[in-house]
Amino acid sequence: MLKNIILMGPPGAGKGTQAKRLVSQFNLIHISTGDMFREAIKENTSLGQMAASYINRGDLVPDEVTIGIVKERLAKKDCENGFLLDGFPRTIAQAEALKKIGEEIARPIDVVINIDCDKNELVRRISGRRVCKNCGAPYHIDTMKPKVEGVCDICGGPLYQRKDDNKEALEVRLGHYMNQTKPLLDYYKHLGLLRNFDGSIGSDILFDELSKLILGK
Ligand code: AMP
Repeated sequence: MLKNIILMGPPGAGKGTQAKRLVSQFNLIHISTGDMFREAIKENTSLGQMAASYINRGDLVPDEVTIGIVKERLAKKDCENGFLLDGFPRTIAQAEALKKIGEEIARPIDVVINIDCDKNELVRRISGRRVCKNCGAPYHIDTMKPKVEGVCDICGGPLYQRKDDNKEALEVRLGHYMNQTKPLLDYYKHLGLLRNFDGSIGSDILFDELSKLILGK
């Protein structure tokens, strides 16, 4: 089984949804830098205060900060059985730092999963996205409605719209994706680690395909 995994793709491609299902299916540690920053913002820590200004306008948090929190998290004992990185790396500098960290702690990356999707679909998904404030479960106002409006099916928490899920911030995020993150696909292709998937095929089918890959089928 492949156990140290990177999940990549533009905002709205379905990374978060697949990540949640895969970590629970394969008992992996979910490392989402976006979730870590949002948690820090909620708790109003100094990291959160610093990150908020970048995140709310759709910009990337500086590399040294992001690399620092991932390095600390990956070194924890619970990652020894496998982890899934969701939203990291997003720049070449982050990918190079990750390679070095992986060597230092003997936890190299086994596979890089790239989920792609066309821009119109990304905009549709992001603008209708709602997220549970407590557990982070994702919903959509048209295609993934909760049973009771505004309430999470799983934990009963309130649903909200992320501050960076608006049209202006999304344009900025897609720009960063195209300029800084997409070049990573070539980087990982050269390392022989990249596997591409179509994010528009439907969540369940995609999950089955990703599961087969992870199980080496
Ligand atoms: P996400 O939940 O992955 O869409 O991330 C939300 C926001 O957190 C991004 O738009 C960035 O502002 C910030 N962020 C998350 N991961 C990273 C990263 N690897 N590098 C820099 N900024 C990040």
